[in-house]
Amino acid sequence: MATPNELTAMRRAIAISAQGLGTTSPNPPVGCVILDRDGVPVGEGYHLRKGDHHAEVNALTAAGERAEGGTAVVTLEPCNHHGRTPPCRQALIDAKVSRVLMAVMDPTSRGEGGAVVLEQAGIEVERGVLEQEALLVLGPWLHSLRTGRPHITWAYTAGADEDDGDQGVTELRRTHDLVIRRNGTIEEGVPGGHGEDAFHVPHAPLGDEPEKALHALTEAGARTVLIEGTFNEAARLLVDVVDRVIVDVPGLPPSSVPVSANWSVPSGFRLVDITASGLQVRLIAKRVVGRDR
Ligand SMILES: [Zn+2]
Repeated sequence: MATPNELTAMRRAIAISAQGLGTTSPNPPVGCVILDRDGVPVGEGYHLRKGDHHAEVNALTAAGERAEGGTAVVTLEPCNHHGRTPPCRQALIDAKVSRVLMAVMDPTSRGEGGAVVLEQAGIEVERGVLEQEALLVLGPWLHSLRTGRPHITWAYTAGADEDDGDQGVTELRRTHDLVIRRNGTIEEGVPGGHGEDAFHVPHAPLGDEPEKALHALTEAGARTVLIEGTFNEAARLLVDVVDRVIVDVPGLPPSSVPVSANWSVPSGFRLVDITASGLQVRLIAKRVVGRDR
């Protein structure tokens, strides 16, 4: 069982992991917090981009010797493979932590991942700690892993004829690998954010076949894609595979006649969150299968 202190550390790890959204792909956005043997946070870190240190190594570097006998709290099962960087499970073993808490298990490890190796090294392992909360950040990456294509978000302002450059939608860019602008331009959500050789922005336009378009986006290294604007060719092309819609609804007087067809979320999506800022409302909806449809 995780202690309240450890749960707080996991939520912190989840929070900082989100800073990697938009730049870690094709790697996952991961966060890690190190507690010393008394439960005091002594280091934290997240993964920024492929080729850079993983979250665990960044957190251990910050903690230094204070990690010994302590606990590593990490949002994804530590890796067990030699990629561009040595496996994190070895870094945790070398740092002599006594306990590792993980939220989400890495489906690519096939049961032979970091968790098993850590246990074999005598380290206490807890799996599934705040898994649902960690999925708020890791969900789209896992979705991409499962489906073999990017997680696609379509964002627009309800009722707008000209919504390219809308401020609310613009802010979403930096948490997505690729953005398809209303004029068809494809660009990184964070320009240059993925580093030089891990990522290749595909050529626009994407053509008129959804499967080929998805393939091009996947090959680029994208795990998340944002389509901007109501009147976007890409939205028409990929509408059947959009996973999430984000709709900004401008402020309205208390009594009015709806004038636009796109004032709410499309059919086939259900609301999962609503935030309001003054009269402005943001709807977030996910694709549903089954009776809610
Ligand atoms: Zn790693």
